[in-house]
Amino acid sequence: MKTIEDFNFENKKALIRVDFNVPLDGDLNVTDESRIVGAKPSILKVLEDGGSAILMSHLGRPKGQVKEDMSLKHIVNKVSEIIGVQVKFVDDCVGEKAEAAASSLENGEILLLENLRFYAEEENGDKAFAEKLSRLGDIYINDAFGTAHRAHASTTIVADFFPENKCFGYLLAKEINAIKTVMETGEKPVTAILGGAKVSSKITIIENILDKVDNLIIGGGMTYTFIKAQGGKVGDSICEDDKMELALEILQKAKEKNVSVHLPVDVIAADDFSNDANTQVVDVDKIPDGWQGLDAGPRTLDSFKEVISTSKTILWNGPVGVFEMESFADGTKAVGNAIDYATKGGAFSLVGGGDSVAAVKQFGFENKVSYVSTGGGAMLESLEGRVLPGIAAILS
Ligand code: AMP
Repeated sequence: MKTIEDFNFENKKALIRVDFNVPLDGDLNVTDESRIVGAKPSILKVLEDGGSAILMSHLGRPKGQVKEDMSLKHIVNKVSEIIGVQVKFVDDCVGEKAEAAASSLENGEILLLENLRFYAEEENGDKAFAEKLSRLGDIYINDAFGTAHRAHASTTIVADFFPENKCFGYLLAKEINAIKTVMETGEKPVTAILGGAKVSSKITIIENILDKVDNLIIGGGMTYTFIKAQGGKVGDSICEDDKMELALEILQKAKEKNVSVHLPVDVIAADDFSNDANTQVVDVDKIPDGWQGLDAGPRTLDSFKEVISTSKTILWNGPVGVFEMESFADGTKAVGNAIDYATKGGAFSLVGGGDSVAAVKQFGFENKVSYVSTGGGAMLESLEGRVLPGIAAILS
């Protein structure tokens, strides 16, 4: 696996695919700069070696049209401030103008290209467009995990034009290593905590990780499909009746593979899907009609905590309750605290995919786990066992 560490960029122009798809407010100011901060180490390495950096990214969903409010020119000052170098900007990403700006770039300088998705060819993975991008640099670096599951021109196809001179940036390499630790090399016991709303959106992940984990904790809305499938009463809880058979198959497979499955035993049931609902703690398989399980109960949390605190490798995907409502956030917080405790004791913990990252940020666990993935969809596809096209393109 070739990373940025394997190259010296002296007198070289690095063409770097970064993820600068940052949120902007109504006045087009950057409201969350973490993606720019994340790209900084790779950019600095290129400059410190004595080379120059050409940055390319998409912003928003312009769908092949030039959209003024999605121009990357709005973030030039923010990027300059974070990197500590005044960034140059060119209002195109391919063609004469872009090529002229790239070729006149001196060592130590940074050029930011205009939004790649102003061209439909980017998302179409157009080869001729990728070839035009490739003219801008000597070495291609992919440092955008969030788009690594897309076979777009700048994330995948362009790599073909750098057969020897392509590599992963620091950020992408970190993501790959974190997934590898959980899926292949992590110390046992390995525990996956899967929550979230639906079995159907997590089924491929569950099937894939049964071969990799010792413990599988299932929480959140998924719980009730498993409980009802085993004959329990789930009241008005979210439940996918058409997935009950699948749930039983998963439990059977887990048994065959010696994976311990931990499902909730009690829940906080509510008489309405609302923060102000009346609540009661009930056994997970005896939820009265008119009530729905919205968070894990105390006995459940005790058992989850015990499993988590004795784990050496932990993957967390999906909240164990409706954490957006304060009344049903305690379970998700308790899981976060248990992971924090295990991590302090030397466990490796990875949080990623969809809403678990939002929960982790909301409750301030970001710096307490070993790694928080930056790519929602890309992380989910990795956990499903797929080789992401952006990663395969560098490895080939
Ligand atoms: P996902 O994107 O699949 O990880 O699902 C996350 C969502 O699942 C969050 O918005 C939670 O509010 C929701 N969720 C978690 N537990 C439950 C539950 N018991 N009932 C309904 N929704 C839930």
